[in-house]
Amino acid sequence: MDGIDGNGKSTQIKLLKEYLEHQDKEVFLTSEPSTSEHGKKIENLLRRKEASRLSKKKWVELFTLDSKENIKEIKIALQENKIVLCDRYYYSTLAYQLNEKEWQAYSEQFLKPTIVFILDLPVPIALERVKEKYKLTGEKKAYFEKLSILRAVRKKFLLLPNYLSDNIKIIKGDMPIKKISEDIKKEVDLLIKK
Ligand code: ADP
Repeated sequence: MDGIDGNGKSTQIKLLKEYLEHQDKEVFLTSEPSTSEHGKKIENLLRRKEASRLSKKKWVELFTLDSKENIKEIKIALQENKIVLCDRYYYSTLAYQLNEKEWQAYSEQFLKPTIVFILDLPVPIALERVKEKYKLTGEKKAYFEKLSILRAVRKKFLLLPNYLSDNIKIIKGDMPIKKISEDIKKEVDLLIKK
């Protein structure tokens, strides 16, 4: 599950996990930034002033280390026949940090998922959701959660299927939670049947 902040990734992953577990499937959940040393460093940087001074190279380096750490856990879960659901993966690094020319080579470093859902919605709606969520959690806004940045990132997420052979499904994210969940489940059911 990927896409811009506030598009409903964690909401949908939770629902999908419940759906699969209801069918007695074992599910392993990951999220990036992860709880690894690199993930914690990223989380910490994202909410500090220095974030704007960090170079693209440094961000890519940090996110790459975190994704690679995550893959170790993913491989173990797959060996145990679990279904792995990822709340963000390398697609975020492609859309947030890298340009189209860099996508193919960068993605070759990672284990490809069977299916990728990119939840797409207008940035102002996503930012409003993020704002409401932070009112409840007390979290501070992260560096990339700005209209101008997310507008460019959203466009890049939408371009990913044109550049990569990965099985990417763009799902409309400005709909009721239940409707989005039904759309995702339909795709997952098709995969399970195969
Ligand atoms: P993300 O993990 O992508 O940042 P979340 O799943 O945490 O997004 O959703 C951000 C906020 O928006 C949460 O408060 C969530 O309850 C709300 N939300 C998620 N999906 C929808 C939706 N389809 N319609 C309205 N609000 C939503």
